[in-house]
Amino acid sequence: MSKRADLISVAEAIQRISQKFQRMPGETVPLEVAPGRVAAAGLASPEDIPAFTTSAMDGYAVRAADLQSATADKPCKLRITADIPAGFWPAAVLGEGEAMRISTGAPLPEGADAVVPIEDIIGTPDDAGRPLPESIAVPGPAEPGAYLRPAGQDARKGDQVIAAGTLLGASEIGMLARLGLAEVDVCMKPRVAIFSTGDELVRPGQPLSPGKIRDSNGPSLSAAVNSAGGSAHYYGIVPDDREMIRQLLDTIVSDGADLILSTAGVSVGAFDYVRAVIEDSGALDFWRINMRPGKPLAFGAYREVPYFGLPGNPVSALVTFEVIVRQAIARMLGQTGDVHLKLRARLEEAVLGDGRESYLRGILREQNNMYYVRLTGGQDSGMLSSLIQADVLVVVPAGTRRLEQGDEVSVIMWI
Ligand code: AMP
Ligand code: MG
Repeated sequence: MSKRADLISVAEAIQRISQKFQRMPGETVPLEVAPGRVAAAGLASPEDIPAFTTSAMDGYAVRAADLQSATADKPCKLRITADIPAGFWPAAVLGEGEAMRISTGAPLPEGADAVVPIEDIIGTPDDAGRPLPESIAVPGPAEPGAYLRPAGQDARKGDQVIAAGTLLGASEIGMLARLGLAEVDVCMKPRVAIFSTGDELVRPGQPLSPGKIRDSNGPSLSAAVNSAGGSAHYYGIVPDDREMIRQLLDTIVSDGADLILSTAGVSVGAFDYVRAVIEDSGALDFWRINMRPGKPLAFGAYREVPYFGLPGNPVSALVTFEVIVRQAIARMLGQTGDVHLKLRARLEEAVLGDGRESYLRGILREQNNMYYVRLTGGQDSGMLSSLIQADVLVVVPAGTRRLEQGDEVSVIMWI
């Protein structure tokens, strides 16, 4: 088969990943530690939320029928029979010609079908804390249901409020608390082992000797794994020694890794050792993805633990992580839907492509409800500084040689 025939599209790589990775088992965690985790199961509301109809305003609970003929010239006078603060159940039923003072969130008394806000009542501006008036004058009609939050407005008993695979953020945590849950079932975080290869590398914090550079991929990928919802474990730098590589991989496997990532030398040098060791006790494929940045990406398994070998350039490592590996983690977390927030934006400059699907670093600007994007400048894959400047990755479709200023492109939020 020709080399060309092995070239797969980004979409196909993602498709293959979704077949290879399974969802992790679930575990139960307290709500306080649930933000950032992914719901393992769908959650149905065990009751109507709110459980009873409440007032949406500070005002007076009324019967709409009593106010049908009320006007500013001929206001309708209602007798006040009770005060209902939030947190108390109304003791009495509202009768004809009557009103009850009611606070926001307080239960609507039986017999009432609307609330008239305080602001709409003649001569009672802001009467919170004042003694209960004997009567009020209402200068107009009320629609039945006005200023009410009906029982079940937020969720009806049995409604699914959180789908399996939902990333839990502040609003989901609020809903879980609202349902009375102190714990939630989430997918276990995949344990992701990371190591770096390359004779030039020195662990951050260690002194540099001539010709050496610091391993920035270990820490940057650890951060990327953690923010994607995985649990990163950085194993440092592996020297070009078959036995040491094997020992490290065995340690990683016996520590219970669910995924192994390494960076650099995907085709030559140190990687040859990694490759030989993995092929001894597993299998290795090279995926030539039609993607820029992104050299051949190694994909395989060591003793049945899935493995990705990413490019060494700091930008390529992070971008291939985001576009490709992130999909595997999302799959392990049972996340459904697109893991990326995408927008359409207009190019502020012409952009050259090389025919591969390209992910270029861009700066987004909003003007009159339109997004505009320009490149960060230098796109060398060694320039982490340009990834720091970037708000988005500009996607240049495969097969494109040139896009003009003003052309619309898809951009992925880079946060
Ligand atoms: P390679 O993929 O081995 O050809 O490496 C490409 C470039 O990435 C070279 O300039 C390496 O020095 C650099 N590089 C490789 N690994 C790392 C790492 N862990 N941290 C920072 N730079 C790296
Ligand atoms: Mg290298």
